[in-house]
Amino acid sequence: MTNLETLKNESDLVRRAYGFAKSAHAGQKRLSGEPYFNHALATAEALADWKLDEVTITAGLLHDVLEDTKIKPEELEREFGSEIRKLVDGVTKLGRVKYRGSKTQAENIRKLILAMAEDIRVIMIKLADRYHNMETLSYLAKEKQKRIASETAEIYSPLAYRLGMQRLSGELEDLAFPFIHPREYRWLLDNVKERYEAREAYLQKIKPIVEEALEDNKVQVVSIDFRAKRYASLYKKLVKYEMDLDRIYDLVAFRIIVKRIEDCYAALGAIHSLWPPLPGKIKDYIALPKPNGYRSLHTTVICLDHKLVEFQIRTLEMHNEAEQGIAAHWIYTESKSSKAYRDRRPIKIKADELKWLESLRAWQGEHQEAKEFLDSLKLDFLKDRIFAVTPKGEVIDLPYGATPVDFAYYIHSVIGDECTGAKVNGRLVPLDYRLISGDVVEIITQKNKKSSASWLEFVVTSTAKDRIRDSLKKKNLKLLDSKQVELKIIAEDRIGLIKDISGVISRSKINIVNLNTSNRSRGGFQLVKVRCDTSDKDKIWKIILKLKTLKGIKEIDYRFV
Ligand code: MN
Repeated sequence: MTNLETLKNESDLVRRAYGFAKSAHAGQKRLSGEPYFNHALATAEALADWKLDEVTITAGLLHDVLEDTKIKPEELEREFGSEIRKLVDGVTKLGRVKYRGSKTQAENIRKLILAMAEDIRVIMIKLADRYHNMETLSYLAKEKQKRIASETAEIYSPLAYRLGMQRLSGELEDLAFPFIHPREYRWLLDNVKERYEAREAYLQKIKPIVEEALEDNKVQVVSIDFRAKRYASLYKKLVKYEMDLDRIYDLVAFRIIVKRIEDCYAALGAIHSLWPPLPGKIKDYIALPKPNGYRSLHTTVICLDHKLVEFQIRTLEMHNEAEQGIAAHWIYTESKSSKAYRDRRPIKIKADELKWLESLRAWQGEHQEAKEFLDSLKLDFLKDRIFAVTPKGEVIDLPYGATPVDFAYYIHSVIGDECTGAKVNGRLVPLDYRLISGDVVEIITQKNKKSSASWLEFVVTSTAKDRIRDSLKKKNLKLLDSKQVELKIIAEDRIGLIKDISGVISRSKINIVNLNTSNRSRGGFQLVKVRCDTSDKDKIWKIILKLKTLKGIKEIDYRFV
């Protein structure tokens, strides 16, 4: 019985979702000819294999009903509650984010996905969904194959890696590889297979020697096996080594799983006493885990017949974490109290709740990479950024609070100036609308339209502010020819103040258009606003200098109106 079947018997929620998804997708077919429901099922099965909670698995069964069937979000919520609706909604939204092959976009898209997901389970479901889509990729049209494969290699495999799910990350990359590099893939198939076999035969010969040494040193071994290097990562390495297979000595590596951490170091010692290690190749990822949490000891030794052999040594717990990453943590924290799926507390992973992240945080000070990793893992890390999307699918990184006007100026200054309206996700919004991550923004422009001063009240990017001020200045230059100036004078309140001010101005042969005083005297001070019929800067400065000589004048400001 698969994990999912077990769960179906155990969980009412999963059983209902199974029936619901099956009938929602009834009659729909995948391009492979299979019923569509098989895809929903495969997605949920992957999630069950990763031992995620019942809510996530349920959402996995339902993950395509909003996108691909007539089911409305409200109906989904009525049947399965708001939590599952949110998860399915999240997966549906992520489906709209498309990667179109510019490497500079890749990091933004990964951030967008993390920022949009809010709940890390959304990413888990998306990864399970993508995994099955990759397994059935050959049924799609060539162009689409290539796009989805590179999206998988550039976006989803690195995301899985960051979450510590190394096995999934490697599998996704391997599934994508033949579609991205078909010729190189065939070359590898032709050239590597024999070497793999020869290599395994060689390691087989060494295995008893290793076993004996471990036993002599009282190492408690769980298992010893071989790990063949994946095609995709072998290819990357080959490119570095001029396609020379002879230089790849970790084509197949030993993997020793032991009981306790002490055993790891004892095993390392035992191996080094058999064969000398290669300098610089001993890696202690237990004392210093990799940024994604990976822990293990690695060493490469000069073995029988002077062949180089790599060993990886770790405990079972480290092994599970390395394979499953964040998902493995569910098992440790949740299944201690109960084995039943339904009793698992649905987890919203907060980075600070995870032990292995805490241990990372402890040394993030010394390791820049780790800090970067943590920054990108915390789902609230991007609180101060939002990621909006152009109608063509390009992701635009903007500060929190950005509006369609900021977006427009980011795209191009002319689009900013000529912006008259905006559609977000197909709906008209006001220009001061605050964008959120994942919003698809379309700017409506009108030829020769000019920016508006009122935009300065809501835009947040400096690009937009500078551009708006620039184009206002241009407008003001024109104003200077014909318009007026307003003087704002703050002075000690006294009898005769107004008379003195207007006297200075009229003696300079400038018309006063109007003059206002504030009714309230603020702590003995009076605000006087005078509008004059000039825009000649020289004249204005002269007046200001004269006014400043008057008794009790504290401050003078001016603006063109
Ligand atoms: Mn799907």
